Amino acid sequence: MATQRKKRLSRTEKNDALLEQAAAVALPSVADVVVVGGGASGLTAAITAAETLQDTGSPGTVIVFEQALTCGRTILATGGGRCNFANTDLRPEYYRHPNFVRSVTDGTYLKDILSFFRECGLAWVTEEEGRLYPVTRQAASVRSVLLARTRKAKVICACARRIIDIQKDSEKLSIIWEDLFGAQKHHTLVARTVILAGGGASASTFARKLGLATVPERPGLCALTCLPEIPVQLDGKRAHARALLTRDGHLEASETGEILFRRFGVSGIMVFNMSRSALPGDTFTLDLLSEVDHDSLQAAITAQTIDGVLDPDLAEFAAPQSSVPAKIAAAQALTLTVTGVAPSVPAQVTLGGLSVKDFDRHLEACSCPGLFACGETLDIDAPCGGFNLAWAWKSGMVAGASAARRLL
Ligand SMILES: Cc1cc2nc3c(=O)[nH]c(=O)nc-3n(C[C@H](O)[C@H](O)[C@H](O)COP(=O)(O)OP(=O)(O)OC[C@H]3O[C@@H](n4cnc5c(N)ncnc54)[C@H](O)[C@@H]3O)c2cc1C
Repeated sequence: MATQRKKRLSRTEKNDALLEQAAAVALPSVADVVVVGGGASGLTAAITAAETLQDTGSPGTVIVFEQALTCGRTILATGGGRCNFANTDLRPEYYRHPNFVRSVTDGTYLKDILSFFRECGLAWVTEEEGRLYPVTRQAASVRSVLLARTRKAKVICACARRIIDIQKDSEKLSIIWEDLFGAQKHHTLVARTVILAGGGASASTFARKLGLATVPERPGLCALTCLPEIPVQLDGKRAHARALLTRDGHLEASETGEILFRRFGVSGIMVFNMSRSALPGDTFTLDLLSEVDHDSLQAAITAQTIDGVLDPDLAEFAAPQSSVPAKIAAAQALTLTVTGVAPSVPAQVTLGGLSVKDFDRHLEACSCPGLFACGETLDIDAPCGGFNLAWAWKSGMVAGASAARRLL
């Protein structure tokens, strides 16, 4: 019997099918826990809240609102599609507001993340600098196991629904949301607890009405534009460098690693990490010869060529048409002025967000009992290496457990 080939769906057909699925999810008018955002932190929070309630014998209604057609989409893009989901060294010092991170993570940071993923059925490997990846090296595996556990925990995933307002009156929180499929645009639902997990740039939407302070948001872990312009022959070239970032003569950050030159400016993990501190007008001073010892530099001068210690195009950029000693001196202190964030490379995190001063170590808003926040919505960020997702998972767990405890 001839096997029938399954028809490949076009993107529009896939989206239509997802919209139909989303529209078929019926929502109650009252929920025990409403999670704003079905990303890394929101899914973890919802799972933890639902499981905590089930463990105590009083299962509740936990709903994740996600404006996209499916939950966990950001996870797919992480770690270049491989998802560097945590790090073996999760010291709070790596984070903005380390004392707050220490109080929330409570000495069980990595252990809790690994137990959580073990229970999800995920296996992992440790690569260079303690970076943890799923053993499949596929971000889709992380998302898949999370979605499976979400279903098992009977969390309602309300996709294609954007929360546009949260109103607080006396004991209750009213959630106003709009859908991407129906005729009736605005709907209301009463929530006994709410967890804000909408990621970067979502905080300011609700903060003012809820009386929460925010720290201005801006892109972080991103490529930077700079002056002088990078010549075309350097586009795509990499170099190992020691870099200092200074503002008005004061050191703001320093880092050693690989820098990637692009037509628009500079990129690479080292630049991403320094972008957390960089502002337009700051100066990058690069030592492109930090790995080359004194004797090797002398040998290059004697040989009258720099080609053995540095890419000739980089040397020419540092000191055009100069002698070898002049090129060496310039390459040891190449200065670039930061002009902004490169729009062509997506930033990996949003700096700023809800001020941590308004939240306790259970991630509950001090001025609004029943309101919690987790993940990138809060003013917490860290360098590349699995630290940001680690915070998303762990803060999600803490917020989810705290919301469930409040209900109990
Ligand atoms: C390209 C890229 C690569 C990255 N790689 C890594 C990595 O390898 N390791 C690492 O540790 N970190 C990495 N990060 C950072 C990491 O992805 C984030 O720190 C993490 O996803 C934050 O989780 P979150 O749940 O706080 O926010 P998000 O993952 O952004 O999730 C928020 C969700 O909320 C939804 N939402 C927002 N507002 C609303 C609303 N009003 N109503 C309904 N839904 C809403 C959004 O659609 C989104 O799905 C990377 C980021 C990017 C962009």
